[in-house]
Amino acid sequence: MQLDPDILNLIPEMTAWRQDFHAHPETAYQEHRTSARIAELLRSFGCEVTTGLAGTGVVGSLQGGPNSLMFRADMDALTMSEENPGCPYRSRHEGKMHGCGHDGHMAMLLGAAKILAGREGNRPCLHFLFQPAEENEAGARKLVEEGLFQKFPVQAVFGLHNWPGLPAGEMAVRPGPMMASCDLIEIELRGKGTHAAMPHLGQDVVLAAAHLVTAVQAAVARETDPLDSAVVSITRLQAGQTWNVMPASALLQGTVRALKPETQDRLERRLREITDGLAAAFGISARFSYDRRYPPTINSEAESDLAHKAAQKVAGAPGVHANLPPSMGAEDFAFLLREKPGAYAWLGTGKAGAANLHHPSYDFNDAALALGASWWVELAQPS
Ligand SMILES: [Zn+2]
Ligand SMILES: [Zn+2]
Repeated sequence: MQLDPDILNLIPEMTAWRQDFHAHPETAYQEHRTSARIAELLRSFGCEVTTGLAGTGVVGSLQGGPNSLMFRADMDALTMSEENPGCPYRSRHEGKMHGCGHDGHMAMLLGAAKILAGREGNRPCLHFLFQPAEENEAGARKLVEEGLFQKFPVQAVFGLHNWPGLPAGEMAVRPGPMMASCDLIEIELRGKGTHAAMPHLGQDVVLAAAHLVTAVQAAVARETDPLDSAVVSITRLQAGQTWNVMPASALLQGTVRALKPETQDRLERRLREITDGLAAAFGISARFSYDRRYPPTINSEAESDLAHKAAQKVAGAPGVHANLPPSMGAEDFAFLLREKPGAYAWLGTGKAGAANLHHPSYDFNDAALALGASWWVELAQPS
């Protein structure tokens, strides 16, 4: 491992920033204190600062050239209560928590910005993006729609997420899909309710719903190439109020994940066709709604290679994985990668007994701050 010596000196400061963010979590588009603190720090480093992007987003820029790169950290916390009794920097906002480690992402990118701002030498123009609303609310899409890349016409974008499934000290990045798409489905089946003893006088939406729960799996198990990956999970099934009345409606909800845009497109089309076909077969009606949330996160070849080389430099070659399987979770960095070439990497933060992302006792592992920040510095200015 070859960590940046200036970053090593910055560990106490990065740790203090991280724990301060952790104590003051703010959820999607409400990251006002966080955003103000970041803008203040970036200015103190000597960055040119742009605020108010998609509401609370901040960009700190350093001149260079001729190329220009964007490095992104997410700022938002989760709507959940923290269970880390005794932790001195435990969330002070009940019901909100940095349960995904975005506090660590901000601290690492701030550390890199501080070191790079004070360093001479050739390097591209750098834009450090602190993004609102990664969790569920697609802050990255809002930034793109508001003209992020017209304001900052960069050649490539890079992102980093902590990964408790990898040991601290290791990293992973690969070309192609890193994370899956994430969509929501909701289906309402409607028929004619009746007395449970006289089913022939109505239409049984419960029986139809039961068939539908199994039929949708054909879109994955029988129609998706076994070497591709997809998930359809029906997670909610609601119908009826009692045992002797056949209800008139049934509600199903669930989520759909895919690693390729074409698989995502096909699943949407096929789930609609299966629902309509099944409703026709049972003589009932169906309302099908498909809410596209996030596309798959797909890394480009050349930028994955740069990210991989930087990771090998700072973490040491044996600690860097180039063929770890992608995750079926989702990430809104995908919206930036749809516009620009780039790469999204994982930073190992795992330690024995530690909780995973989105768990009430999760806490970002500060031992990983120096590696993540060193990776950013190396990516900006390969040594
Ligand atoms: Zn998360
Ligand atoms: Zn996250």
